[in-house]
Amino acid sequence: MKTPSSLEELIAALRCLPGVGPKSAQRMAYYLLQRDREGAGRLAAALGQSLATIRHCEKCNSFAEEAVCGLCSSSRRDATLLCVVESPGDLLMMEQAQCYQGLYFVLMGALSPLDGVGPRDIHLDRLVKRAADGTVREAILATNFTVEGEATAHYVGELLRQRGLKVTRIARGLPVGGELEHVDSGTLAQAVTERREA
Ligand SMILES: [Zn+2]
Repeated sequence: MKTPSSLEELIAALRCLPGVGPKSAQRMAYYLLQRDREGAGRLAAALGQSLATIRHCEKCNSFAEEAVCGLCSSSRRDATLLCVVESPGDLLMMEQAQCYQGLYFVLMGALSPLDGVGPRDIHLDRLVKRAADGTVREAILATNFTVEGEATAHYVGELLRQRGLKVTRIARGLPVGGELEHVDSGTLAQAVTERREA
């Protein structure tokens, strides 16, 4: 029997998710249609809504519904500090650790030449412009302690130092290969407090 084409399309569409191959895409599609049609509707609506309303904050590049997000427009943040992280999840971790009062720039990735991710893909032109606003004094590199994260920190550090900024790297309380998202708040807070000149 031939699979109906909208089902085929759903299965193909689900494969855009990371780590989802043909088998699991098929399982997800069957699950949504057979067992959770309400959940499927909610998912479809939320996706449509997010695509229509979510964009990148002009200042920090993280996801936002406004041109400039609430964090960037807050007067309570220290605008002389700019923390560079890889993802919105990392920003969230930093906020939950409650160890940092400055602002952020979210790269939305890390340099990875083997995967074809270069400086343009992680918005380094925008980061340099943002960091050179005349107010930022120190850039804190809080990319992951993975090969990609370290390479990114090195590259970004060079770029920003050339523009006269003080550049620091969060300390290695974090495990080698460690991703910010997966460490506890205490460890992350300590890594920020003990950051050193990069
Ligand atoms: Zn922002």
